[in-house]
Amino acid sequence: MPAPEPADAGYGGQPLALLGAPSDAHSSYLRGAAAAPAALRAALASESANPWTEGGHDLGRPELVFDAGDVEMGDGTDELERIEAAAARLLARGARLLTLGGDHAITHPLVRAHHARYPALEILHLDAHPDLYDRFAGSRRSHACVLARILEERLARRVVQVGIRTLNPEQRSQIERFGVEVIEMRDWARTAELTFAGPVYLTFDLDVLDPAFAPGVSHWEPGGATTRQAIDLVRSLDAELVGADLVELNPARDPQGLSAMTAARIVREIAGKMLSAAPDPRARA
Ligand code: MN
Ligand code: MN
Repeated sequence: MPAPEPADAGYGGQPLALLGAPSDAHSSYLRGAAAAPAALRAALASESANPWTEGGHDLGRPELVFDAGDVEMGDGTDELERIEAAAARLLARGARLLTLGGDHAITHPLVRAHHARYPALEILHLDAHPDLYDRFAGSRRSHACVLARILEERLARRVVQVGIRTLNPEQRSQIERFGVEVIEMRDWARTAELTFAGPVYLTFDLDVLDPAFAPGVSHWEPGGATTRQAIDLVRSLDAELVGADLVELNPARDPQGLSAMTAARIVREIAGKMLSAAPDPRARA
């Protein structure tokens, strides 16, 4: 079998790199998120929209964004290890990395790679679910356990979860155990007070949005955020955003492609935030 193309092949010094992580091996309930990087790229390139962010970045400029392609999967080696290796190569070249999932399990290797470069890393986690189970459906690598694995390995100085609306006693005890800060969906207004001291990694699970806005996810959890609330939160973040992922788009549940377009809009605004040297004061208004 030929060696896979390294993720940084052809990298030309762009400040931002896009990486696809087509892995859904650790999903529960439904598979399908492995098809999301292709659907997201198609939505990002759709002629129905333009590549500008609200903050004024033209993501169509090849000197701003390097598309590193997808991590190659399927030869029987461990998918999460391959994702970590690809991310580490891009980070070593100095790029900021925005990864298109994949199910949420991909965030563990991505945060490992970022922590190695940014030891003071803080995590902002947007999700309907806290993903803090010690074990789910017999697996410790399930997407429902990803934050527990990250916290056990002490890969983040701080984890802030926003949009949560599925807490149960086991997850509450894990929140206590790991000292996680949680802003539940019903308390969304408190996000206006969020500040971060260190470099921030943003992990955006698309199911933080209400399924009315993004039904193309495996786990429908009504009562969630609007697209506008999520974009405003990303844009107004008082933080240096050094890395991010968007996970859990499931194209099998998105026959019209609307959820992919919604996710692409959010990817664009996350990219714009990562490209901004300083917080955009206009976004705070
Ligand atoms: Mn999740
Ligand atoms: Mn979720």
